[in-house]
Amino acid sequence: MAGKETKTTATSGESIAADINSAAVWALLEKYRFEMRMALRVCAHCGLCAESCFLYMARDRKPEYMPSHKFINTLGILYRKKGRVRRKELESMCHIAWRRCVLCTRCYCPLGINIPEMIALVRRVCRSQNVLPDFENTSGWEKRSHGQSYTKTAE
Ligand code: SF4
Ligand code: SF4
Repeated sequence: MAGKETKTTATSGESIAADINSAAVWALLEKYRFEMRMALRVCAHCGLCAESCFLYMARDRKPEYMPSHKFINTLGILYRKKGRVRRKELESMCHIAWRRCVLCTRCYCPLGINIPEMIALVRRVCRSQNVLPDFENTSGWEKRSHGQSYTKTAE
């Protein structure tokens, strides 16, 4: 199924009816399937990486800023659903990949999981579907949690 050429920003404030090109998303995910699925499988959910993430520390240790939380709720879903996610879900992932991670590579996992690489792949998937963050609107990032509508936050 071909995806529509619809540009969506994660701060657009409204859901976009257009679907995504899940075949293209899966093709991208397939390239990295072995290492990414391995990382998702071996993650012990120990939370040790969290201490090395400055965003997690700066955001009062909110669970959604834990590195493992970020990749489980993005790549974990993408692989589990074999790329068949709705645009709204991808918008949520876009928010996580850009606004909860800056790819600084500071996070440390004793098991060798490369978290920034995982988040970078999420960004690639989002970009491939024109689901992009709205950097022009920096005064108040509009956040969307899974299954909830957009709300303004001071994040
Ligand atoms: S990514 Fe590594 S450090 Fe972080 S929760 Fe998983 S196993 Fe623990
Ligand atoms: S790469 Fe992302 S998850 Fe890792 S420390 Fe930096 S902001 Fe945190």
